[in-house]
Amino acid sequence: MATLVARALDLLYPPRCVACAAFGRNLCEDCCDGLVPAAGPGRCPRCNVARDDQRHCRDCSGWRALDGARAAVEMSGPARRVVHGLKFSGIRDLADDMAGPLLPVVAALAPDAVYAIPLHRRRRLRRGFNQAEVLLDRLGWPAAPGRLERVRATASQVGLSAGERRENVAGAFRYRGPDLKGATVAVLDDVVTTGATASECARVLREHGAARVYAIAYARAPYRSPASGRSGD
Ligand SMILES: [Zn+2]
Ligand SMILES: [Zn+2]
Repeated sequence: MATLVARALDLLYPPRCVACAAFGRNLCEDCCDGLVPAAGPGRCPRCNVARDDQRHCRDCSGWRALDGARAAVEMSGPARRVVHGLKFSGIRDLADDMAGPLLPVVAALAPDAVYAIPLHRRRRLRRGFNQAEVLLDRLGWPAAPGRLERVRATASQVGLSAGERRENVAGAFRYRGPDLKGATVAVLDDVVTTGATASECARVLREHGAARVYAIAYARAPYRSPASGRSGD
């Protein structure tokens, strides 16, 4: 029944590509081909950021609790429209377009558990959903033990330096559940930028027994970019 309603709605309001507005799909094939994979040479092997060579960058040298970051695509062009389409326009089916290229990235890490980075209750209510939870749901990775929760609302990370971002999210999360007993764990968001939020989640998960924690995201944004402000952290 739900499918019939969805089909009828598709006829009345056919989906349009978020990047080029062509009718037919939320992300058309041409724009999908325009996505830049966040893989290959010219990336920091630890945090996955694009750079001139393949050496470790200085930006992630301060990461303590986080072992690395991995993403499916570069936060540019159509990817930016996809991220904003899910988060700000609420087109939840875009999470399927994001989960597709992300799944092999997650499978390569083979984490024992994946946690969506939680939003504070109030922000989740205002938005109606947490984009990271929707993405995790579409990813279809086995359910993780326990719960990662946000216990403190934090100011937006927009325009903050890496150090300010770290301070802003300190003490914002807690984990409730069984000991993680040396597990490899991943924390998921739509975009990874400085890794400050993921690092704070990682610190908490390590306190509860995780041995390795990675940040995983659909898109990798550069550390410093005037346009990356709205894209999370
Ligand atoms: Zn398109
Ligand atoms: Zn790096």
